[in-house]
Amino acid sequence: MSSLDGPDEDQQSGKPPVPQDVQDAIRTLIRWTGDDPAREGLIDTPARVARAWKEYCVGYAEDPAIHLNRVFHEVGGYDEIVLLKDIPFQSHCEHHMAPIIGKASIAYLPQDFVVGISKLARVLHGFARRLQIQERLTAEVAQCIWDHLHPRGVAVVVDASHACMTARGVRTPGVTMVTSRMMGVFLEDQRSRREVLSLMGY
Ligand SMILES: [Zn+2]
Repeated sequence: MSSLDGPDEDQQSGKPPVPQDVQDAIRTLIRWTGDDPAREGLIDTPARVARAWKEYCVGYAEDPAIHLNRVFHEVGGYDEIVLLKDIPFQSHCEHHMAPIIGKASIAYLPQDFVVGISKLARVLHGFARRLQIQERLTAEVAQCIWDHLHPRGVAVVVDASHACMTARGVRTPGVTMVTSRMMGVFLEDQRSRREVLSLMGY
């Protein structure tokens, strides 16, 4: 173990300090899985794991709706579907804290104004970077856009693989779960729903 890996690491590296009880909890988990948290390779693991989890769950520190605050009213008469397709995202399931890795397509039918297109991805990441279930993630993204953009319709389709079933449990790699939430015209009108799903590639 080099001196850089010692207890001063936080101060020297400028990384945020990790409370002792959090590190102890991770040490307990390592011991419980069968390894020795005191061996060289694992010495700094508890602090690293804790910081990594802060990063995975950074969505708790933000209100995703904030990304929809700035809208553009000059849309040149555009009144068709706006779609951000196949946005890659990562989340963690709240039942196993295992990775959920997938892509989401987010569409809305604007009414009067639009939002910068990258903002839809920011809303997704804001909800994804928490402990989640895919069904709620899908619904939360759709509801947030519905509430803040007041569009004529919202469609969100999420397609993701869950490490809690690919890497453990039934251990079935290659399987993905698809969830969708349709609101407004995409819920009420079959033709609009077919159109948006076809644009998304479904
Ligand atoms: Zn799970």
